[in-house]
Amino acid sequence: MQQITTPATDTDAFSYASYRRLLTRLLERGYRFGTFVEALGNPWAGSSPRVLMRHDIDFDLPAARRMAEVEREVGVEATYFFMLRTAHYSVFTKEGTAEVQKILDMGHHLALHFDCAAYPEDASEEDLASACRKEAGMLGDWFNRSVEVVSYHRPSPVVLTGNPALSAPLPHTYMSQFVNDMKYCSDSRGQWKYGDPTSQTAFQEGQPMHILIHPIWWTDSAIPAEAVLAHWLREQIDFIENSMEANCTVYQKKRGQGNA
Ligand SMILES: [Zn+2]
Repeated sequence: MQQITTPATDTDAFSYASYRRLLTRLLERGYRFGTFVEALGNPWAGSSPRVLMRHDIDFDLPAARRMAEVEREVGVEATYFFMLRTAHYSVFTKEGTAEVQKILDMGHHLALHFDCAAYPEDASEEDLASACRKEAGMLGDWFNRSVEVVSYHRPSPVVLTGNPALSAPLPHTYMSQFVNDMKYCSDSRGQWKYGDPTSQTAFQEGQPMHILIHPIWWTDSAIPAEAVLAHWLREQIDFIENSMEANCTVYQKKRGQGNA
């Protein structure tokens, strides 16, 4: 299958078709898709190579659900990390809850994406770990699932040390077991910084892999990251305007006059 071996630097690098090919190649190489807790408890003993598919959700719940659908089509599972303290979306709105629930109903795993910037700059390790526990508890309670792992949003040098105390007793994704004991690949800022996962020696050798994919960057036609964000922003404006119209008669009159 020649097209599968094409590196993810071509024009469809971040399309759903490309993502489907990545998943298929992992399966063809014999990879099994696992969870972070499994990886922690059993450091990949056994015969099959393993991969952790991680999604940090920074912007867009519908984009996350779309990625989950691709994974379901291929028959693999992933872990979805959602933020509670962000201005970009809410898992607690009617629409947000419905999107996350669809992802969970497809068999994917619920996890917490945690933003240090929402807390004081001088927060201690224990302060942050306590906040992680609190947010993980809220997220898990809301969806009636357990939240067993945390990923830090925009990790600082302190987070990148991998210190387990930062989220204890929950593990976090920058701990040594997840970034040093396995090959870590990320599509941060809409590009594979060190080449796509299947170009890695670790893939060819069937070594454990940890792949971070942000669903916001992946679309039907792999449009540039700037255009993706511009489209996302327009959708947010529409969403807020519709909510204002549904909840505020003053705005209904104003918008009606504007349309007249
Ligand atoms: Zn993030």
